[in-house]
Amino acid sequence: MGNPYKDAVVQLEDVTKYLNAPAYLIEQLKSPDKLIKKSLSVKMDDGSTKRFSAFRSQHDNSRGPYKGGIRFHLNVHRDEMKALSMLMTWKCAVVGIPFGGGKGGVVVDPKKLSRAELERLSRAYMRVFADHFGAWQDVPAPDVNTNAQVMAWMLDEYQKISVQRLASSVQNLSSPYAVLTGKPVELGGSQGREEATGLGGSIVLERLAKKLRLRRQYTTVAVQGFGKVGYWFAYFADRAGFKVVAASDSKGAVHVPKGLNPDLTLSCKKEKGKIAGCYCVGSVCDLKHGKAITNDELLELDVDVLVPAALEGAIHKGNAKKIRARAVLELANGPVTPEADVILRQRGIVTVPDILANAGGVTASYFEWSQNLSGYYWKKPLVFQRLREIMESAFDAVWGISKRKKVDLRRAAYILAVQRVLDAMKLRGTKKLTTVPLLRIVKA
Ligand code: NAD
Repeated sequence: MGNPYKDAVVQLEDVTKYLNAPAYLIEQLKSPDKLIKKSLSVKMDDGSTKRFSAFRSQHDNSRGPYKGGIRFHLNVHRDEMKALSMLMTWKCAVVGIPFGGGKGGVVVDPKKLSRAELERLSRAYMRVFADHFGAWQDVPAPDVNTNAQVMAWMLDEYQKISVQRLASSVQNLSSPYAVLTGKPVELGGSQGREEATGLGGSIVLERLAKKLRLRRQYTTVAVQGFGKVGYWFAYFADRAGFKVVAASDSKGAVHVPKGLNPDLTLSCKKEKGKIAGCYCVGSVCDLKHGKAITNDELLELDVDVLVPAALEGAIHKGNAKKIRARAVLELANGPVTPEADVILRQRGIVTVPDILANAGGVTASYFEWSQNLSGYYWKKPLVFQRLREIMESAFDAVWGISKRKKVDLRRAAYILAVQRVLDAMKLRGTKKLTTVPLLRIVKA
């Protein structure tokens, strides 16, 4: 495995040649504004106390408060936090939402914790980082192995702390819900957040198909991963008229040439505990509709669009030459390694980068934050309509840059994002206010 932070810096350096940017500003963007490391002390069910390393990386807030998830995973480390917070800066900038980039994490295997231990860990995280969070300061969200319940515990802890310690900070008390996104709907979460990343990906696919002159009913799609993102993507892509012919989970994959029914496939997967064996077309699941294939075979299928929606590094230099899809839509974060990216590009395969393709999630987080601050909650159709406006406009902007500058979509997305951040930095004329960043109006 390469170093994700080094890769992120190389990616930034790569686009600077297309930008008229002073070197000192680019240098500032190579490192986070702040990387905070703390040690959490958590009481275990057996009465002992364990310590866990925890991080928050705040990359840049020139365009708005830091924004990014908190993950609980054994692989969490300093450079991963720095890289992922930088990617969040670019992701928010590419869709034009008024946030910067952040990321947090705890080095832990949450599967080894009881529910009560998980709650104490989540609360401990919020206790030690509370001074760094706030609706106008830094707004975390769920990430790998964290969810709406974890956000609910953290929100509750934050509110208790706010009352005790942050009473002087009026902004944090007046809009406490807006300190976190990805919350349960009952605690200020937004309608449509769960669907947003998959729906955003499907909207991008619609736009891409138009540009590549692919007719939806003949456009075949293979989806790696049938979790929150992969399932909702398949659901909306199917409804938009695309033919989802393959899907996988960690235990195997299915190939259903006539096009699978995402809803039935999900019910079947829940029943069997795996997707293998779920060949669901129309209103029936039947063995004659498809066959089981391996996860590697799914990636190598002769389809129009391949959608990695599971893991980092799924397409690497070992399999990039075998990819037969015409386009790759990156719904996972970092599913194509830098070496594989070069190979795909040389082979003429169009890749829509993660910072654009999966930005529907953070866009819905922006809607949640905005609803929390205004106290006015939107119905789901409005969330979807506004998501569509933002995703379409971001895709069109990236596509336009790619044509004008004759670069691939990844470079184009980075050019757009980095330029937007540089514009904000230049307008400020000085490096950073750390507490109340300028709020910009989004141009959908
Ligand atoms: P999830 O845990 O709900 O689903 C992951 C799916 O991938 C599961 O179906 C799992 O079985 C499958 N999987 C695991 N290993 C696999 C393998 N080797 N081959 C095939 N399938 C495999 O996670 P998610 O929320 O759907 O996130 C998926 C990806 O999207 C991650 O990279 C995540 O960082 C990224 N992402 C998620 C969101 C979001 O809103 N959830 C937003 C942006 C990016």
